[in-house]
Amino acid sequence: MAKVQGAVIINEERCKGCDLCVVACPTGVLALQPKEVNDRGYHFAYTDKPEACIGCASCAVVCPDACIEVYRVVEK
Ligand code: SF4
Ligand code: SF4
Repeated sequence: MAKVQGAVIINEERCKGCDLCVVACPTGVLALQPKEVNDRGYHFAYTDKPEACIGCASCAVVCPDACIEVYRVVEK
């Protein structure tokens, strides 16, 4: 059966570190950078476990600043 794998691209400079996407992700893909900050001084979101992404787009839906793009790849 075809397996759907997702991939997300996060605009790190636009991210304000609000954590909503981290909480919304059902598979624990996302996390906030514990130490690094972006140019605006926020701990931005990054893909901690990219292989777990199922492409559900919950993260992109909840992000108030539209920082996340989701792609879906069907592996045959
Ligand atoms: S698309 Fe879904 S599984 Fe992938 S990072 Fe976003 S919320 Fe998590
Ligand atoms: S929801 Fe958007 S602004 Fe908030 S931490 Fe995630 S990517 Fe950053």
